[in-house]
Amino acid sequence: MAGTVSIHPAVDNGLPKGRADFDGGTLICKCAQDAVEVNVKGQVAHNHVCGCTKCWKPEGATFSMVAVVPRDNVNIATNEQKLDVVDSTAAIQRHACKECGVHMLGRIENTNHPFFGLDFVHPELFKEDGWAPPEFAAFVSSVIESGTPPDRMDAIRSRLKDLGLEPYDCLSPPLMDAIATHTAKAKGVLPN
Ligand SMILES: [Zn+2]
Ligand SMILES: [Zn+2]
Repeated sequence: MAGTVSIHPAVDNGLPKGRADFDGGTLICKCAQDAVEVNVKGQVAHNHVCGCTKCWKPEGATFSMVAVVPRDNVNIATNEQKLDVVDSTAAIQRHACKECGVHMLGRIENTNHPFFGLDFVHPELFKEDGWAPPEFAAFVSSVIESGTPPDRMDAIRSRLKDLGLEPYDCLSPPLMDAIATHTAKAKGVLPN
């Protein structure tokens, strides 16, 4: 039954409502004391649920929820000393709170990366409401790598479609096109 499939707490009861005038806010980790706070200016873009094994997910969630913002709009406001990079060899450097484990931001330091200049954030961590809701589901097949039985995939994809989150096994077509365009320009196949 599709209704019994849990995707992520922020979407399981329907997508949250975004606000056109949302102009940013503060992301806060799960520590009861001395929480890490990250200020973000402006609305998030390309918000989506992600099935990969690298993104931080809340307890019990099948997917994470993750969006991008320009890195210049991101400022670590308090308790930066509690942050540590989860895997320094990964393309996206995920800065996690050492105490509660929440990923506060994912940053790309490779200037040749197609998404250089963007930080990945988990909008559910905003203290404020109004951030743009997720638009699609990425890396859906990868939830199997986290232990989801393959025979659950039909129900998961059907639930995602019910929610209006088109399931993709990589990123959405606009983002895949952006990556391919970047690669083509780097190779000189397309003009810069
Ligand atoms: Zn924390
Ligand atoms: Zn992911």
